Amino acid sequence: LEKAQVKHERLKAMGQMSSSIAHDFNNSLQQMTGNLEIIKFQKGFSNTTIERLNNIEDIIDDVADRVSALQKLGDTENENKNVQLIDFNTLIEEGLNQSRPLWKDDMEKKGLSVTITTDFENIPRFLGNRGELKSVFFNLIKNSIEAMPKGGAIVIKTFTKEKRVYATFTDTGIGMDEETKIKVFEPFFTTKGFELGRGLGMSGVYNTIKKYNGDITITSSGISKGTTFEIVFPVSNEKEATELETTKQKDKTSFNVL
Ligand code: ADP
Ligand code: MG
Repeated sequence: LEKAQVKHERLKAMGQMSSSIAHDFNNSLQQMTGNLEIIKFQKGFSNTTIERLNNIEDIIDDVADRVSALQKLGDTENENKNVQLIDFNTLIEEGLNQSRPLWKDDMEKKGLSVTITTDFENIPRFLGNRGELKSVFFNLIKNSIEAMPKGGAIVIKTFTKEKRVYATFTDTGIGMDEETKIKVFEPFFTTKGFELGRGLGMSGVYNTIKKYNGDITITSSGISKGTTFEIVFPVSNEKEATELETTKQKDKTSFNVL
């Protein structure tokens, strides 16, 4: 087994390399967009031509999204622009709400059901960037949904232990084989085929978590036995953490579809 530190250095190098290539792509994309804008201002195009130009614009937007995800992988320092004390429980709920359009209608149409249960402890707030951390939670939920094409259950827990904040995401999906477990955090690694998967979700998750001196571990009992991701962060607010230790409260909610 690869030593954790070696693995971390390797993933970091892959992220930085992807990010610098993405930087070049970004310059090229900007030139393409600029030229397209100029062309679109000219008159006398047929409808088909306008349609094609719009199609090119859509494709450029799509590529730009992926390029931007790649660029973020090079962002390994936590010189954070916009940090505030964040309540993870609320942010996870927001990630859940954001994920709902991805699956709700589709599952209902197929007569399948997804149950999402949250089991939240009152945890100390965490100093970080909301958008960045929400995208961690969103990506974990999205992957769990995608791992359960026939429906299933997701359980999300938050708790504190020994001055650390934990969030676990468990699904009853397809699980992971050994190769997937090893490669899951690599940029571009996907088992979904290039049409469906980009392989940029988990590399972004990993990068963000490391940026906050956190860690992420995977437990999967094997193929079709589901997966658990456990995230752990150091406590950023000692005082609040100590206060909350004495008033541990639980908050359990459950969403049901069908
Ligand atoms: P993508 O979702 O585009 O494939 P990700 O980086 O988000 O890329 O995930 C990489 C791969 O990790 C997925 O293709 C899948 O094989 C595996 N994976 C991630 N989350 C899960 C999960 N909850 N259950 C099973 N496999 C997962
Ligand atoms: Mg994904």
